[in-house]
Amino acid sequence: KEFRNNVKPNWCPGCGDFSIQAAIQRAAANVGLEPEQLAVISGIGCSGRISGYINAYGFHGIHGRVLPIAQGVKLANRELTVIASGGDGDGFAIGMGHTVHAIRRNLNVTYIVMDNQIYGLTKGQTSPRSAEGFKTKSTPEGSIESTLSPLEIAMSAGATFVAQSFSSDLKQLTSLIEQGIKHEGFSLINVFSPCVTFNKINTYDWFKENIVSLEQFPEYDPSNRVLAMNKIMETNGMLTGLIYQNTTRKSYEDLVTGFKHEGLAKQDMMITPEEFDKLVAEFR
Ligand code: SF4
Repeated sequence: KEFRNNVKPNWCPGCGDFSIQAAIQRAAANVGLEPEQLAVISGIGCSGRISGYINAYGFHGIHGRVLPIAQGVKLANRELTVIASGGDGDGFAIGMGHTVHAIRRNLNVTYIVMDNQIYGLTKGQTSPRSAEGFKTKSTPEGSIESTLSPLEIAMSAGATFVAQSFSSDLKQLTSLIEQGIKHEGFSLINVFSPCVTFNKINTYDWFKENIVSLEQFPEYDPSNRVLAMNKIMETNGMLTGLIYQNTTRKSYEDLVTGFKHEGLAKQDMMITPEEFDKLVAEFR
């Protein structure tokens, strides 16, 4: 309850993003966080509004730059739980360079992508997640580009936590966000989040028919990287659940040499005039 504020979301009625907001709020409460222990950083797009709808520290960044900001926040104050959130266009088009390198850097940030397979805020253009043949105002003859697979890219970039969910499955999504928050390292959670206004193909019913839940495979072992990659390809990227987790690799914060446990915000930054002159002299 503490993570609710009095700002009324202006997403379209029925937008999948409502459930993602609720899942973040529930997960944060379930893991025992207080609002002042959480920072929600967002990009640009309909999804980017989410940082204003959660009672926590929030930062609505610029297009495609949610991860540099989120990583900076985490480095500055390691005591904060940092959730980054944005759309598939934000993270997998303009922001893809940051996404891949944040994955391999493995800072302790949970990245939730609100994947509606279209650009919603700009009123319906093809995104990197749109299917081949997908017709929009930007591809009236149908998209001739292949669809980007974020799960395969994350796995090949050395991700330590890869999950996928559906905004309608609040129980699964909340649980995955809780696991992502607890994971020591970078966690990618891609969430199918229908855009009810502009995407008339990838609807709630379409996702329900096409999703393959890992609950169907009780023997599945998310620590097996080869199995995870095979399952992603077998299901054409429609797998949901905790797909892969590596608990042995240390986070960036734990590996970097000489990095103090306290973030910059907790360090005594006062220096004497002599120390300042010495520091400046090193750059002359
Ligand atoms: Fe949601 Fe689509 Fe409306 Fe944006 S345009 S708020 S993504 S339904």
